[in-house]
Amino acid sequence: MHVHTLIIGAGPGGLACAKILAEQGIDTIVLERKKVIGPKVCAGGITWSGLISRVPETLAEKSFPKQYIKTPFQNICIQEKTAIIATVNREKLGQHMAQLAHDAGAKIRTGVIVRKIHTGALLVIDKENGTEEEISFDNLVGADGSSSLVRRFLKLESKRLGIGINYQIPGDVPKMEWHLNNRLFGNGYAWIFPHVDTISIGAYADRKTMAPGKLKDNLISWAGKQGYDLKQHPAHAEYINYDYQGWHFANIFLVGDAAGLASGLTGEGIYPAIISGEQIALTIANPDHSTAIMDGLISRHDKHSRMVAISGKNGLLNSVLAELVTLGLRSGMIKFGKLEMAV
Ligand SMILES: Cc1cc2nc3c(=O)[nH]c(=O)nc-3n(C[C@H](O)[C@H](O)[C@H](O)COP(=O)(O)OP(=O)(O)OC[C@H]3O[C@@H](n4cnc5c(N)ncnc54)[C@H](O)[C@@H]3O)c2cc1C
Repeated sequence: MHVHTLIIGAGPGGLACAKILAEQGIDTIVLERKKVIGPKVCAGGITWSGLISRVPETLAEKSFPKQYIKTPFQNICIQEKTAIIATVNREKLGQHMAQLAHDAGAKIRTGVIVRKIHTGALLVIDKENGTEEEISFDNLVGADGSSSLVRRFLKLESKRLGIGINYQIPGDVPKMEWHLNNRLFGNGYAWIFPHVDTISIGAYADRKTMAPGKLKDNLISWAGKQGYDLKQHPAHAEYINYDYQGWHFANIFLVGDAAGLASGLTGEGIYPAIISGEQIALTIANPDHSTAIMDGLISRHDKHSRMVAISGKNGLLNSVLAELVTLGLRSGMIKFGKLEMAV
């Protein structure tokens, strides 16, 4: 079998890419190893300037014009006129995006895992019946997340990684909270993100500033003091790749986490995945397509990576920076949007 553009991964990046390619009349197949599209270890936070205004209102579970931020020395609340962040259910977001890509004419195959890639073709295994198939392609898009096979095929290392741990527990709370504390969460933070009938409680940190096991232990004991017994719930953890080294390699393209385009500072990755997916589709359709939007995304990503490098130098420096940024947010000198991936 031969296809013009083959996309590995039906996450937000792969599906955004598939929709635009299909709209341009390009023969596109998406291969996804999961049977159900959407579910992903994630806090489900999307930002106003990034995605809230782009997805149907019904997809937002809860919206928050107020954000509560706590450090060892400050406890602040910032407020804007529109929602700063909303929460989404990743399965519903995935199903919505898959429907759009399907309606545009993209073919999506689930329950198939890509095992091997060679120049111009790859080997797919159907997980249910074990059958193998070789598919050849003109273009390959690696939208296969932070442990990307396509990235490994390109021999790109992923050294700059963050670790995200999430517990999705039953409950209903009104406030969206961020907790910065170097001793507990390195140069990252812990969050409390309310969803409908559930709460996402988790922590994110650069791997260099906090080992995953320690981050998990600290999260559990910190959450206990906030009144949440996480030990009785399953933990879900995944790396977040922010080691960006390029997105276009002849007829192979990398999208979202596979490209290392998530923010190393906050772990925000849904927006960069969607934007890079769309821009790569437009580049495949028209090789002269302007790179201005990708350049803007990469420049924002680069700023975040530089902030991670500075805050990761030592604990004291990170604590001082966290207090200064919080003070800036409190006084209005820093807008919350400055910490987002959207320009
Ligand atoms: C704990 C945690 C919390 C997070 N919270 C947020 C948040 O609040 N907001 C935010 O914006 N971002 C958040 N992120 C980051 C966000 O989830 C990712 O950046 C985003 O999902 C990346 O999208 P993607 O399309 O690049 O990859 P993914 O969403 O990872 O999709 C990749 C897809 O490829 C498939 N795949 C992989 N390998 C193969 C293969 N060999 N064959 C077939 N299919 C394959 C996978 O099954 C998957 O469906 C969080 C991440 C973590 C770990």
